Amino acid sequence: MRFTQAFNRQLTIARVYGIPVRIDYRWFAVFALSVWLIESNLQSHAMQLGNVRLPPLPSATAWILGVLTTAGLFLSVFGHELSHALMARAEGIEIEEIVLHPFGGLARLRTELQNPRAELRIAAAGPAASFLFAMLAFGGTQIAALGDYAATFVVFFLIAAGNLLLALFNLLPGYPLDGGRVLRAILWRKSGNIKEATRMAGICGMLIAAMLVLFGIYILIAPNWRPSQPYFMGGWSILVGLFLLDTAAKVVKGAQVARLVTVGDAMSPPIVIEPELSVIRLVDDILPLHRHTSFPVAVNGRLQGILSLEDLKSLPRERWANTKVHTVMRPIQPSFFVEPTTTLESARELMKDNGVGSIAVINARGELIGFLHSGKIRRT
Ligand SMILES: [Zn+2]
Repeated sequence: MRFTQAFNRQLTIARVYGIPVRIDYRWFAVFALSVWLIESNLQSHAMQLGNVRLPPLPSATAWILGVLTTAGLFLSVFGHELSHALMARAEGIEIEEIVLHPFGGLARLRTELQNPRAELRIAAAGPAASFLFAMLAFGGTQIAALGDYAATFVVFFLIAAGNLLLALFNLLPGYPLDGGRVLRAILWRKSGNIKEATRMAGICGMLIAAMLVLFGIYILIAPNWRPSQPYFMGGWSILVGLFLLDTAAKVVKGAQVARLVTVGDAMSPPIVIEPELSVIRLVDDILPLHRHTSFPVAVNGRLQGILSLEDLKSLPRERWANTKVHTVMRPIQPSFFVEPTTTLESARELMKDNGVGSIAVINARGELIGFLHSGKIRRT
């Protein structure tokens, strides 16, 4: 295994509502860094938050509070992602996994979004959860203040501030941030074109990422205004900016390529078989010439269904001679055909789910003019 692979390897740490939760090894480093930052601040400075004063703490107490606060913050990030995932499930979208990475988290969806409304709801669910956690933690500070528990107050305060920051940062209107997804949903609803909406939201994401990088550089070199941890804050802002820039640039590039390539560009002429053909003739005469795993079944250019070789596996050999193709094919359904102007991207999505791994191309007059096999498309 190469070093970078080991570095990116992911551990599944839990399953929540059946959704695997994964972290990569870099995450442990970020956890440790966060504990250390909080601990060293609590040890060296007195904290004055409103009326509550926390004097510099002994080492052991500072470490414990550092671990508790960091655990609270990471649980908050997880709660944010879980909120996206549960909303997606409520919208009927399957969730692949939740990944916690050094810059936050990601709820990976298995199926493409069906409409802008679902996208908007799923995107808004994360920041809404973070706002809610911020309010709860703020409530915690008020209770701690009543009992004069300064250390508890500080832990709740940091968690409340962290969640508020997480919600506000994620609402910045640039893809792949949640605000960018909201922006994409709005543009998508307006234009009906998801690719163009993705491209625009991605460009906004690149601008926001560039601003984060510049902001980080400014913190590092600014003569007058310095936060308490200038090198850490500046460096972190630059790293997050670069990470976002990379992701947003890929999204923009993907949308640009995808909007150019259509099914018409990628399809091949269909190898049509007739419904009355027997399975044995298919196996003896057609398969040796055309080594495909599925074939369109049509009469006079009208698609009737798709025959998948997978479906022939259960058919005993002695029945091949008197079984007709139309009895083993899958009858036509909407996910079996597209128009030549459909983007390759959406055709791929259909093929992933339609069970035959291929798709027929039908023109405006309803005639079968081409066929696509998912394995045979050039990666674009
Ligand atoms: Zn989010």
